[in-house]
Formats: sequence, structure tokens, C-alpha cells
Amino acid sequence: MSKLHSMTIGGQPYATAKTFEVTNPSTGDVVGLAPNATKADLDSAVASAEKAFQTWSKTSEDDRAAALQVVAAKLEDHADELAKLITQEQGKPLNGVGSRFEMGGVGVWTGYAASMSLPMKVLQDNNEGKVEMYRKPLGVVGSITPWNWPVLIATWHVMPAIRTGNTVVIKPSPFTPLSTLRMVELMNEVLPAGVINVVTSDDTLENIGSAMSAHPDIRKIVFTGSCATGQKVMMSSAETMKRLTLEMGGNDAGIVLPDVDAEAIAEGLFWGGFINMGQTCAAMKRLYVHEDVYDDVCAALVNYTKNIPMGDGMDEGSIMGPIANQMQFDKVKRLVDGAKTKGEVLLGGEPGDGLFFPATIIAGLSNDDPLVAEEQFGPALPIINYTNIDDAIAQANASENGLGGSVWSNDIEKAKEIASRMECGSVWINSHGMIQPNVPFGGVKKSGLGVEFGEEGLQEYTDIQVIFS
Ligand code: NAD
Repeated sequence: MSKLHSMTIGGQPYATAKTFEVTNPSTGDVVGLAPNATKADLDSAVASAEKAFQTWSKTSEDDRAAALQVVAAKLEDHADELAKLITQEQGKPLNGVGSRFEMGGVGVWTGYAASMSLPMKVLQDNNEGKVEMYRKPLGVVGSITPWNWPVLIATWHVMPAIRTGNTVVIKPSPFTPLSTLRMVELMNEVLPAGVINVVTSDDTLENIGSAMSAHPDIRKIVFTGSCATGQKVMMSSAETMKRLTLEMGGNDAGIVLPDVDAEAIAEGLFWGGFINMGQTCAAMKRLYVHEDVYDDVCAALVNYTKNIPMGDGMDEGSIMGPIANQMQFDKVKRLVDGAKTKGEVLLGGEPGDGLFFPATIIAGLSNDDPLVAEEQFGPALPIINYTNIDDAIAQANASENGLGGSVWSNDIEKAKEIASRMECGSVWINSHGMIQPNVPFGGVKKSGLGVEFGEEGLQEYTDIQVIFS
């Protein structure tokens, strides 16, 4: 019998009439059952969060910081248990840049959120009067998360919300609800009842994400997921004028200049493109390489990639795992099959058993080919040959997305100049996707709205109030 995992509302386990199965992408086995919530269950969660807001919003900065430190320690104590749950429902290996790495990030980001604060600022104090600016919590924050980094992204949403005095209702992806259910259960051993509540749904009974976006008693939605869904969130939240932070898709370009040592950058290129089987918003999804080093870079990257072990995520020796779900597998297969008719497959290209798909590198494509133009969100990297740097930058910018980008060169000043011409929120030089809790992260163009992390990220969980005296 599969284990039934419970939602937590108002600090208590909460049962629903219906449940849904969560499967392991490595084996196809059922990992557990998650509650399938209705709109009425969501209303209960929002009501609990609203009630808790009355007291939590009045707690002191110090008390909230201390509570989050205890939360960080609690999650750290259970890091291996949560890592195993993530691996079982998401597929990523325990090792490598996998679920134990994800839990490491949870500790770091929670600790950092605890350490930040937004004190009152005096904007003016002179003969004409005094003006003070306060940052006030919003109320109930609704968090909607995707399936690629389930507990880490939940951390990015909920910790700053709670730190600034808000209360939360979180809804994880139907593919990966179990690790978030457990995370919230653990947080409720530390925090007062109702400060964080979790609702799970497979989006079939009712679309709970959509109901959250329109809910009159939720003041803000923080959403991470696809551009199409993010746009729906924006539309449904208009009537209630919610605050929004939207972290959406990316189609990040990497640009390699002719002065690189191909062998030296191969490892960085691999992790840039294939982190979490490529299922990462700010993974490198297109690679533009100057013709002078094109053959060398292709060869070095293939050479590095072909030795990375792939297997069941629970196997301690695996560094790459399966694609996380059938929908994503089908998308990657479609794009790779299309690319094969035009490009040259340098590595991989053929699906393995079940949801396994080997790391695939395809050369000889151009910007209009779907594997280059669409976000593949999987282990298939197209490499494009360029002659002129202005053309490469123009091709990199020819996208509706603008999340991240990278430039690879030994000449840092030249790389920075190119970085400044790239239309994206973050640019890395000689690496890709290295986010950190003290640095704002967000997309431009259709990749999102607002930022997470750093002081700027924290501010998004508050309203400004100025007092003139
Ligand atoms: P998705 O948009 O399909 O789902 C995200 C969440 O939205 C899920 O919890 C889902 O149940 C919920 N949802 C579904 N319909 C909804 C609706 N109408 N209203 C509100 N919520 C709804 O995304 P996904 O497939 O889970 O994640 C992959 C995508 O996420 C990729 O495009 C990736 O680039 C993006 N992503 C972005 C970032 C970032 O920080 N920018 C990080 C990770 C993933």
C-alpha cells in the first residue's frame, strides 16, 4: 500500500476526499499518494493563513529571524530524508548536482533569509518635516511551484514571505508534491499554526493554481513555472490587484569567444547545459561557438559528457537521472527528432528505457530550428557555429525570453562588454546559472516580472508605507 502524505492546514494534518498517485520517474513505481484538494480545501488554507497573519505580522524582526534559524536547522536535520523523497518523485540523483545539493541550497537560502531585514528608512528630516518609509507585510502570500527543484524553489518563495511577516499557502507541482508536503509538516513543528499551509492537487478536480491567482483573500502570488502559465496567473490576478513575482521560462544562450581553451571550459559548459538533466530555468539552452574553436569545443564537450554516469537516482553512483515526467520526455524527444533531420548528432539522440534520455549534443543547427528557438528544458544542447560576434549577440537576443546568458573567454573585459549587450537578467562569465541568495535573480522580456533573492527580492513581499510628520 502506498503511503498517503498529508496536507497541513492551520498546523494540523488535513485530509481530503480524493487523492492522486505520484510516481518515480526512474522506475515508474508509485512513490506515494497526495491529497487532491478542492476549492473548499483551498479556502480553509487561506482562512488559516489569514488568521495566523493577525499575530505573525505583529511579531518582531528578531523573533521572525530566530524562528527561521530554527526552521533552517530542522530542515537540515531532515535533509537526507527530504533528498530521498525528492529523488523518488523527481528523478534527480542523490549525488552530483542532485537532491542532496538541492537540500544544501535549502539550508543556505533559509539561513540567508533569516539574516536579512528591511528596517525603516528616514527619507527626510529637516525644517520642512520628517518622512519615514516603512515596509509592511502584505497578508496571505500564495506560492505556486514547478517540479524541477521542488523544495529549493519552495524555499525561495516561502522563507522571504515569512521573514517579512506574511503567512503562506503553497501549492507544489502535481508531479512533485510529496517533498513539499513533508517540508511544510516539518516547518509546522517550529512555526505557529497557520503561518505556512500546503494544498496539493493534480489540477484535474479543480485548478488550484488558477483558484489561488483569483482568490480575493490572497494578496500576492509568487509563481515559478512556464511562461504560458505565468501569463494566466497574471490575467487571473488582475481583478484583485495582486502583487506578483513571476519567474518563468528561459532560453539562455552561451557565447564562446575564439580565445578559449576548449578543454578548460568543457566541465563548465557541461554543467551549464545539463544541470538537473537540463531541467533548470537558467540552464544554458543554446550554445554559440566561434568557428575558430568550434570543432575543439564540440569535441571537448562530447568527451566530458560521455563519461557522466546515468541511472536510477537512488543509486549512489548516478550523476544524471531520468527526465522527470512523460510530458517533458515527449517534448525533448520531439525536439531532438526534429533536430536530427537537419543537424549532426555528436552524442546521444536516442531515448533509453522508460523516461531515460541520454545527454544529447547536436551541432549544425541555426536559430530557426525548434531545438534552438524553443525552451527544450531537457538534456539536449544545440551548438551553433558563428563567425561574427555581432551576429552571435543578435541571435542570442532573438528570443522572447531573457532569463540568463553566459560569455566564455579569457578576456574578462571583452566578455563583460559582450555581457552588457545581452538582453537578460543575469550574465555569467565562464560559468552558467550560478545563482546565490545575496544577488537578485529574475528575467527580462517574457521570462518574468520582479526578482527573487537579495534585498530587492525581499522587498517584493512588502508594501511601502510612508509617514509624514
Ligand atoms: P508549469 O507552468 O506547467 O507549472 C507550474 C505550476 O503552475 C504548477 O504548480 C502547476 O500546477 C501550476 N498551474 C497549472 N495551471 C495553472 C494556472 N492556470 N494558474 C496557476 N497555476 C497553474 O511549469 P512546470 O512545467 O512545472 O515547470 C517548468 C517551467 O518552469 C519551465 O518553463 C522553466 O523554465 C520554468 N522555471 C522557471 C524558473 C525561474 O526561476 N525562472 C525556475 C524553474 C522553472
